[in-house]
Amino acid sequence: MADDRRDELEALLRRQREAFTASRPEAMSMRKDRIKRAMALVKEHGENFAKAMSADFGNRAIEQSLLTDIAATVGAGKHALKNMDKWAKREKRPVQFPLGLLGAKAEVRYEPKGVIGILSPWNFPLQLAFGPLMQVLAAGNRAMIKPSEFTERTSLLMAELTEEYFTPDEVAVITGGPEVAAAFSSLPFDHLVFTGSTATGRRVMEAASKNLVPVTLELGGKSPVIMGRSADFAKAGERIALGKMMNAGQICLAPDYMYVPEDMQDEAVAGVSNGVSAMYPTLLENDDYASIVSDRHFERLQGMIEDARGKGAEVVEVNPGNEDFSNANQRKMPLTILKNVNDEMTAMQEEIFGPVLPVKTYKAVDQAVDYVNEHDRPLGLYYFGDDREEQERVLTRTISGGVTTNDVIFHVSMEDLPFGGVGPSGMGSYHAIEGFKEFSHARAVYHQPKIDIAKLGGFKPPYGKATEKAAANIMK
Ligand code: NAD
Repeated sequence: MADDRRDELEALLRRQREAFTASRPEAMSMRKDRIKRAMALVKEHGENFAKAMSADFGNRAIEQSLLTDIAATVGAGKHALKNMDKWAKREKRPVQFPLGLLGAKAEVRYEPKGVIGILSPWNFPLQLAFGPLMQVLAAGNRAMIKPSEFTERTSLLMAELTEEYFTPDEVAVITGGPEVAAAFSSLPFDHLVFTGSTATGRRVMEAASKNLVPVTLELGGKSPVIMGRSADFAKAGERIALGKMMNAGQICLAPDYMYVPEDMQDEAVAGVSNGVSAMYPTLLENDDYASIVSDRHFERLQGMIEDARGKGAEVVEVNPGNEDFSNANQRKMPLTILKNVNDEMTAMQEEIFGPVLPVKTYKAVDQAVDYVNEHDRPLGLYYFGDDREEQERVLTRTISGGVTTNDVIFHVSMEDLPFGGVGPSGMGSYHAIEGFKEFSHARAVYHQPKIDIAKLGGFKPPYGKATEKAAANIMK
């Protein structure tokens, strides 16, 4: 990357940090004003953003974008505004006996970290840039955002509007490809939030480590659906179909593969197929159904299906309108269910991130639990069924970023639940009070009373009886 671009990023960071430092302490009303401006930016230009996203994808329903990117982002802002006074409260903490009687006091203050970098992906381009921004601002920070180069129009609009609603030392959007992204992730931020693939997440963490920049990594993974015997397969199928088909499966929390009782596989597959047909009678000329974002991703998905077919999978295409996809040239593809899969297939090795759904079968549900435990810890895990005991067995014996029972994805939309992965699906989380804390520094403050505590505690030389007595007391 040209050196002047790097200089520009470094200068911007310096400028933001100087403004941050000069403005402290900043009133909560200023933080709220910034959140309100971010909400206004999104809301007042919602229609334009939705159109830009549709053009970036090839096709993406305006209504879907209004819900998943515009409303979801404004909702995150509203939630922050409503809760931030409570989140930001100083917390009194107890001190050891008898220090309290002597007037000692301890507290935790949640203070802003400074300038936070936000690196975001293309699949929900606005929500995943401006959603975290709401909490970054609630915690009193400044922000630099680098959105994805894959959704170029949306990113440009974000950059233009941010200049209108914010001064560059408050919030700035930087556009550019992987080189700019790499330079961005090597800046000495006070914190860096990255949402994207596990592979890029590794690079981001490596770059951040050079400056010991703390990171929040919101990554992907293979989120399983475990269907219990007691599940209502028709209802479950419909819910899985909704979660898998929205944004054409390009959702970090999309159900990646399904684990079903061996003798109920046909019912499970029929449930999902019927769910798809009910919501999408056709796909090609249906604006409700999104395209795959780029040729590269489209080819990757086609390759995944061919690889599975070649290795013995049974391929079931769910094509409700009997449409011809071969020459459609729109990067749209039907849901493709893969039966009889194994770990030799790329579909069972990589995050799918598209409308392909492998199905595995079990004789006993513990086989599904063992399979999950033998693989990377997923971002989400879904259990369907009415059997509470089995549900608890599945939940208490597996680990995942989050869980929804009897549906998929929904836990992310609960504003008061933390959202994040674990291990290869990410670290740290945002949303709820956890997000506020993630972007704050929990500063420990201790107030020493007038009385000579060091002497009383035996810390002061010359050491002698008082010291021995104090040590013995602590260990008693
Ligand atoms: P990606 O990792 O390719 O790109 C994400 C961002 O990283 C982009 O802004 C890109 O410019 C930047 N980038 C590219 N190369 C980089 C480098 N060398 N150093 C630093 N940054 C670099 O991800 P994507 O394809 O845009 O998004 C899809 C992935 O994101 C999927 O794996 C999905 O599961 C994951 N995802 C996770 C969440 C979550 O909240 N956990 C949400 C959405 C998507």
